[in-house]
Amino acid sequence: MVRHDKKTIGIIGGGQLGQMMAISAQYMGHRVVTLDPNPKCSAAKVSDEMIVADYDDLDAILKLAYACDVLTYEFENVDAAALHQVEQEVAIPQGIRLLEITQNRKFEKTFLEKEAGVKVAPWQFISGPYDLPEHVVKKQVLKTTTGGYDGHGQVVLHSDDDLEAAREMSNLTECVLEDFVKFDREISVVISGNGKDFVTFPICENEHWNNILHTTIMPARVSDTVAKKARELALAIAEKLHLAGTLCVEMFLTAEDELYVNELAPRPHNSGHVTIEACDFSQFDLHIKGILGEKLPEPRLLSPGVMVNTLGQHIEGVSQLPDSHPDWHSHDYGKEEAKLNRKMGHVTILTQNVEETLAEIDATGIWTDAH
Ligand code: AMP
Repeated sequence: MVRHDKKTIGIIGGGQLGQMMAISAQYMGHRVVTLDPNPKCSAAKVSDEMIVADYDDLDAILKLAYACDVLTYEFENVDAAALHQVEQEVAIPQGIRLLEITQNRKFEKTFLEKEAGVKVAPWQFISGPYDLPEHVVKKQVLKTTTGGYDGHGQVVLHSDDDLEAAREMSNLTECVLEDFVKFDREISVVISGNGKDFVTFPICENEHWNNILHTTIMPARVSDTVAKKARELALAIAEKLHLAGTLCVEMFLTAEDELYVNELAPRPHNSGHVTIEACDFSQFDLHIKGILGEKLPEPRLLSPGVMVNTLGQHIEGVSQLPDSHPDWHSHDYGKEEAKLNRKMGHVTILTQNVEETLAEIDATGIWTDAH
């Protein structure tokens, strides 16, 4: 008997997010075809088939479209124009509009404020250096509208001394200038949808070092009122987007319990990796179910958890953890070359005492980068 209940899922991007999506898809019995320029990318070993090509290679994307039932992407800088060309051939449940919104900070902030009705830090569009203030009167951050990640493409304006760098950047590309939020904590809400219904994971509390995520604590150490408000904001956003798959909403929480949305990731997110062990369904499981339009379970927290990222400089120390901390879950994305600040894996620790666990992480001496 030929089975029609199992699908072929095409993933654009074979990094760690593609890899973890593929693992979820595989255990549910689906086939995975991954497009990535690197034949040895993280997702290669868990994909049924690889299409080795650049992300914007239209012929390759067409080949992928013909080979699969649904198409998904693991990062936001996929060529939206190329996807428009194949949308007649294959379902793209996450949608191309979501990609277009999240590829551009101006579109994203406009969507958040005007359509979703959520608060973002006060901002203005900077089309060139002439739009910049003459003097720095408050702390602000200039960000390129497109292409920035992990703090790349950002200039923080503390004083007039920073204006030169800001002028240079805004001379090269369009930017947004936003007020610096004096936040107490950074949190994120990972939310999944199937186009109609939406479910949220427990709130993540995130700490960044040098603009790169360092640790996530689930559930975040915030009041029930803040958690409820954060969930409601994420739901408002998901509803407007008819979200299918997993999305992450990053937010700043101030001492006065005000929430400002910082940015959206239109896909599973680093802060949601902790869900693999801490919840009964992970952000990747619900991404796959969501893009297939299946009913979504409300994810349950099995245990509080702490996730810490393994960057290139942490690899050696982390390799000792199976001996010293056999109960820590060490994930390795299988990347061949370890580079400074490159995400190589992550470690998740289930715990009943977050403070004690954070102290144990410190005590390993592995994560000692200046920050
Ligand atoms: P982003 O690329 O926008 O996610 O920014 C990276 C990190 O820079 C954030 O996670 C914050 O830690 C910090 N950051 C960015 N924008 C702001 C802001 N407006 N106010 C305060 N911190 C910010």
